[in-house]
Amino acid sequence: MLRHASACYPRECCGILLGAIAEDDTRTVTTAVPCANAYQGDQSDRFELDPKDQFEAQRLARTQNLEVLGFFHSHPDCDAYFSATDLANSWPWYSNIVISVRQGAYDHARAFRANETQSESHPEELQCPQS
Ligand SMILES: [Zn+2]
Repeated sequence: MLRHASACYPRECCGILLGAIAEDDTRTVTTAVPCANAYQGDQSDRFELDPKDQFEAQRLARTQNLEVLGFFHSHPDCDAYFSATDLANSWPWYSNIVISVRQGAYDHARAFRANETQSESHPEELQCPQS
């Protein structure tokens, strides 16, 4: 995931998080599937998941018995916050990891989850054993 974020710099990277949800609702991300950024325009602050890659990730989840937990994307030379655009394009329930990449190198990352009405998001704890 972090390699993908650096490789896409100075464009935003994006991808899908696969993993498991424990009975106490702890989410563990075991696989991050890098996707192509399909956004037609300036990709320095926008992303759109390639539908083909999205389909592939769902197939992978099924064959490996994993859940699609959410999505990740990077913010080149920007803080790892959940922007108004991110919120508008998000789905309730799914986790979102935002990775800050500065000068092409990983800086920090945070996880967020939007509420049902997508009016606000809150930080979230995610387990990522091998990010
Ligand atoms: Zn964003």
